[in-house]
Amino acid sequence: MITINGTGIFGGVAFGRIAFYRRRENLVKRVRVGAAAAEVERFLAAREVATEDLKALYEKALAEVGEANAVIFQIHQIMLEDGDYCDSITNIITAQSVNAEYAVATTGDNFSRMFASMEDDYMKARAADIKDISARLVRILCNAREQTMDSGGLVILAADDLAPSETVQLNKEKILAFVTARGSANSHTAILSKMMNIPAVIGTGEALREEYDGKEAIVDGFTGTVYIEPDVETAKEMKEKAAVQAEKKRLLNQLRGKENKTLDGCVVEVFANISSVADAASVLQNDAGGVGLFRSEFLYLKSEDYPTEIEQFQAYKLVAENMAGKKVVIRTLDIGADKQAGYFKLPKEENPAMGYRAIRVCLDRPEIFKTQLRALYRASAFGNIAVMFPMITSVEEILTVKRMLREVRAELYAGGISYSDTMEIGVMIETPAAVMISDLLAREVDFFSIGTNDLTQYSLAIDRQNPMLNKFYNPRHKGLLRMIKMVADNAHAQGKWVGICGELAADLELTGTFLAMGVDELSVSPPFILPLREKIRRINVSECKADALSEL
Ligand code: PEP
Ligand code: MG
Repeated sequence: MITINGTGIFGGVAFGRIAFYRRRENLVKRVRVGAAAAEVERFLAAREVATEDLKALYEKALAEVGEANAVIFQIHQIMLEDGDYCDSITNIITAQSVNAEYAVATTGDNFSRMFASMEDDYMKARAADIKDISARLVRILCNAREQTMDSGGLVILAADDLAPSETVQLNKEKILAFVTARGSANSHTAILSKMMNIPAVIGTGEALREEYDGKEAIVDGFTGTVYIEPDVETAKEMKEKAAVQAEKKRLLNQLRGKENKTLDGCVVEVFANISSVADAASVLQNDAGGVGLFRSEFLYLKSEDYPTEIEQFQAYKLVAENMAGKKVVIRTLDIGADKQAGYFKLPKEENPAMGYRAIRVCLDRPEIFKTQLRALYRASAFGNIAVMFPMITSVEEILTVKRMLREVRAELYAGGISYSDTMEIGVMIETPAAVMISDLLAREVDFFSIGTNDLTQYSLAIDRQNPMLNKFYNPRHKGLLRMIKMVADNAHAQGKWVGICGELAADLELTGTFLAMGVDELSVSPPFILPLREKIRRINVSECKADALSEL
């Protein structure tokens, strides 16, 4: 047995086979071929396989995310049959005597450029679809579709590191646990693993070797240990640990349907953080009161091009409908830093966390921002949507945002499109500057949501992506707690509500302190909802008040 140690970022025990994550290298080379007819045959065969895959994807999406989102896979099937598209591919193969991969990739580029330059919004949106179906065909032709994740059964996923855009594309149903050699405990990849409810160990360093691919292992996310080819003793011990966990989970499930009420009658909202439409299922399963943070940028990270207004509208509408009247707080695009999508073409930066991200990108590129705002407003007619803005540092920014919101409402009104007039707007408090002007910001918005992940990073001058700094990253720092109190007081002075949506919201050691401060809402990853409820129901706020606040 080999034992590897790292940092556990989400508890739980998983038993299974290790599978190394392999990145898709889709560099298509132009190769001259002797028999063009055989290449045409290869293309036609790949097209058949792609059609079958798309049929299966349609059925899966239909069951998981509903007709409105599944329909895209039917559109893709129709596009694969398009005469012009197929003629272009076969022409390139025969005229130039080249390989099918090259002909498909070239046609994909040409057609997507052509669609992107069209006036009509619907046609413009098809550019991304052409890219998508072409990439699918290329993967099939290169035999690159049998990725570790798509093949076989459930696996423990091992990787050197995973970018948020990679993590979000993984098929959750096929992953028992994550193990990565690098990575920071405060990164978005770590946050995603919590949302997925998957045991995770990061930062194992060189000890995680590719030669373990295919070997049986046990991951203990509580202690951050991975056992490769475990011995009988260890396996027995881990089975017992898993059984204790299962029993705890069973007991927690009994809290479903119960109130988040303290012993002395204080009620606090417990909401969920999500990153996709599909996450709404675990929000409901865990009985959250609503969604406190929908990280909308993951819609962009999953996509190969800017998601259109219609695509976004459908996603937001579906979450709002699934939540059936419960509040859904959608955070506008927080792209940049570790969350990069190639098509944004954001510049490479020396210091990305302190750089060009979130609201800064949105205000600089109003066409992208307004598309999202239109989609949000349109979805607001179908449920209880609220919207909040990330990385705000000044009152001017929020005034500009409000002006854009007015313009969007006016456009929708003029177009006869319905939207909610009463959609709440809020700002994320995640910079020290926002804390210090929270009295002024509170006059401009309906609520605050404190992003303690970034607030910790910016207050303590600690890059949350840098694993070397994990030991210095202390969100319980008195400086942070004082800031949270100040923000809560400033919000309440203006009659506005205040929530916490950073990871600190799930820190049960601090629940009493947050309640004593009067925090109105705590938004956490779905698996933390019931443990948090359990904690709240054991608290006496009046007792906490004196202690917690006098220590600050
Ligand atoms: C935060 O910064 O606390 C937050 C919730 O946003 P994110 O983790 O997505 O940066
Ligand atoms: Mg943040």
